[in-house]
Amino acid sequence: MKTQFTSPLLLLTLFSLFTSLQLLAQSSEDKGPVYSDLISFYQEISNTHSNALLLEEGTTDSGKPLHLFLLQKEPIQSSQSLEQLRKNKLVIFINNGIHPGESCGIDASRIWMDDLVANPKSIPEGILIAIIPVYNIGGLLQQRIQTRANQNGPEFQGFRGNAQNLDLNRDFIKSDAKNTASFQSIFRRLEPELFIDTHTSNGADYQYVMTLISTQHNKLAPPLAKLLNDKFEPALYAEMKSRNFEMIPYVNVHGEVPNEGYSAFLETPRYASGYTSLFHNLGFITEAHMLKSYSERVASTLAFLESFLKKASEFKSQIILAIEESREWEISQKYLPIRWEIDSSISRTLDFKGYEYKYIQSELGQYKRLKYLSDKPETFPVSFYPDYKAIDSIILPSYYILPAAFHEVVSRLRNSGVEMSPLKNDSTIEVISTYFREEQFSPQLYEGRLYIKDFKSEERLQERKFYRGDWIISTSSNPRFFLASTLEPQAIDSYLRWGFFSIIFQQKEYFSSYVFEDTAMELLENQPELKLQFEEWKAENSEALNNPYLVLDFIYKHSPYYELEHKRYPVAKIK
Ligand SMILES: [Zn+2]
Repeated sequence: MKTQFTSPLLLLTLFSLFTSLQLLAQSSEDKGPVYSDLISFYQEISNTHSNALLLEEGTTDSGKPLHLFLLQKEPIQSSQSLEQLRKNKLVIFINNGIHPGESCGIDASRIWMDDLVANPKSIPEGILIAIIPVYNIGGLLQQRIQTRANQNGPEFQGFRGNAQNLDLNRDFIKSDAKNTASFQSIFRRLEPELFIDTHTSNGADYQYVMTLISTQHNKLAPPLAKLLNDKFEPALYAEMKSRNFEMIPYVNVHGEVPNEGYSAFLETPRYASGYTSLFHNLGFITEAHMLKSYSERVASTLAFLESFLKKASEFKSQIILAIEESREWEISQKYLPIRWEIDSSISRTLDFKGYEYKYIQSELGQYKRLKYLSDKPETFPVSFYPDYKAIDSIILPSYYILPAAFHEVVSRLRNSGVEMSPLKNDSTIEVISTYFREEQFSPQLYEGRLYIKDFKSEERLQERKFYRGDWIISTSSNPRFFLASTLEPQAIDSYLRWGFFSIIFQQKEYFSSYVFEDTAMELLENQPELKLQFEEWKAENSEALNNPYLVLDFIYKHSPYYELEHKRYPVAKIK
């Protein structure tokens, strides 16, 4: 019986292997993917396989739609919504070409899907694979010879900036690109348990073809962090090793050699997997080594995707359980961390497969340059620092109130699944307001925005007017990690830091000195407390007494004339 069935199966396997190799050969011609060919390929398999479907899900800055390709063992009806399709499944969501010059994932996904539609029996039951064939479409359309100076092929490389020249892998909170809004809408409806973002590395040289960033585990709820650290991540490393693509944690060194040790990469919410992990999703970033051949990079990314599917299927019930427990943990927590720094007290030793290196005299200038000796591989111990510790945490209020005027924030919150209810009437409410001082903006634009690096703040209990249509956001029925990471101003990628509220740092009303001189006198006369404050200020700032503006400004800013809105965070809190 065995021999009866081996033959057609073997033929099928050989055929599919041939197709894969042929496709791999095509991509390893070092030409790089072409947008129109890529979409035609997915459209074709969508047309010809009942368990595959290519969808247009929202738009992108390029004007072209964002495509999403779905595959599962069971047939897919085109009338099924993403919410319906994901029911009772484990969803693996894969994003390719966020940096389209790093196209190995675009090609690997294509080869993988070609294999899987030809071998539907190899798709595990109860798993939905969702792939964005290319995310930064504008960047892929800008494809030209060598946009990545250090990278070994392909010949035509997409450009990092999107159609708006944004780096989409910094855009997941500020959402300046339409691509980001489309991604978030897909993510919200698909609710994937697992996420992969495919990249090509920058930085050091070493023997490994594939390096991996697993989402920084200290940011996760403990049940999910434990599953990642103890089981899922080791299983991925073992599986890749068995496929002759031994991996190492992403070599997070730039301009240096890894020999002195290195730390895990902290992907804050502005990054794809930093964003997805706010919703109890296990995110991974593949970073294939830029100096290996393109065909090796594609093959290693393909091996990772195949390994990932296998291990996701094996750990399916454990992953689903850990996410459930993580959601419960999140609700039970009084404090939520919002900022982290490397924990240099914890390290483990990697047997690092690197190269000998030396510093030699540059022929271009008066300096020594680093040169790796790639013909001299060596294995040496390297300290790896996998942990980050929370350096700041907050107590979430029961409610936030967000004035409707800040509609750019409203739409972003809503697109990430935050539910809000409108205030029914104009109301005066006692709230906690946050006031800022000593704010420091970055001296240069970053991704088109003036990021706020630092500030001090204090909270004040005050009565404030809110209006019908302002938004009440409950923290008990919403994604709390996400709210803490965006609405708490100190959080590293908060909307405040990204400039959505920067208008509050500009005072709107001032005084004319010659008029206010008399008013100031009256104020001091009628308000003994202010007079006392002024006397103290004078004692400490005698040199300022020569400056009429400074004198009057002190009195103005301590008087009822000074606007309460200046440097006040528009988002209020109710305990
Ligand atoms: Zn990248």
